[in-house]
Amino acid sequence: MTIHFSCTMCGRCCHDLRLPLSVDEAIDWLGRNGRIQVFCDAIPWPEDPPASNLQAAYKRDRSFPAISGALPVRVTVTLVAAFQGACPNLQPDLRCGIYESRPRTCRIYPAEMNPFVALSPEAKLCPPEAWEARWPAFQNGDGSWTDPSLTATIDQARDAAVHDARMKGALCRLLGLDTAALANEGLMVHTPSREVTRDALLEAKALASHDGDHVLAEWTLVSNRKATGDALASIGARWERHGAEECASEEYVGFFPADQ
Ligand code: SF4
Ligand code: SF4
Repeated sequence: MTIHFSCTMCGRCCHDLRLPLSVDEAIDWLGRNGRIQVFCDAIPWPEDPPASNLQAAYKRDRSFPAISGALPVRVTVTLVAAFQGACPNLQPDLRCGIYESRPRTCRIYPAEMNPFVALSPEAKLCPPEAWEARWPAFQNGDGSWTDPSLTATIDQARDAAVHDARMKGALCRLLGLDTAALANEGLMVHTPSREVTRDALLEAKALASHDGDHVLAEWTLVSNRKATGDALASIGARWERHGAEECASEEYVGFFPADQ
């Protein structure tokens, strides 16, 4: 089904956000005095799935290998610009103050970057009138985007995510981050200081350009559910229950209620 769309300039997508950024975008964001959080999750990865599993390949290409106890895992790191209320770049007339260099996430919205996620207008911040049939076609029935520049931006964002995966492994080593939520159950949100994060990002970029294979880092998986921990322990993973060592720079965000 063709989806029609026209931006109403309501400004909702510039408020109360956690914007995923590439490494280069995160360095720019920090350079403008923005704040960056580092979201970490990990998935057990005992062996590579067959090449025909395109969804697994997508995940693998955007993560880095690590070890948790005896369990091989892949860690996905997302650099996020977090703010409450208006984006620090939003001007009083609701125009973007860094329009020419705004992050790709802002350029892509409300389209989807992940090819395995279908566009759902109901799930977007845009008001219903933005999706009326009188507007130009936005997405064709076959899932392609009608605007070639949008397609190109999505391709660039996907390429950057693959390119950045190795740098993110180096970034975590430099920041001393080694805790991740179990994927699809939650996120570990790390909030190192602005200066430390910027220095580490710049160093990670330099390292990744001439970094050979390195020893897999040891990660601890975090959950707020004992049942999950028991399951992880049964396959040799190192895990800890959320809440054991909470601190200001680290927070577990669970997608499900904690158990006993
Ligand atoms: S960078 Fe610009 S487009 Fe992106 S959220 Fe901020 S104001 Fe909106
Ligand atoms: S929420 Fe949607 S309609 Fe509103 S400004 Fe953002 S893209 Fe445009």
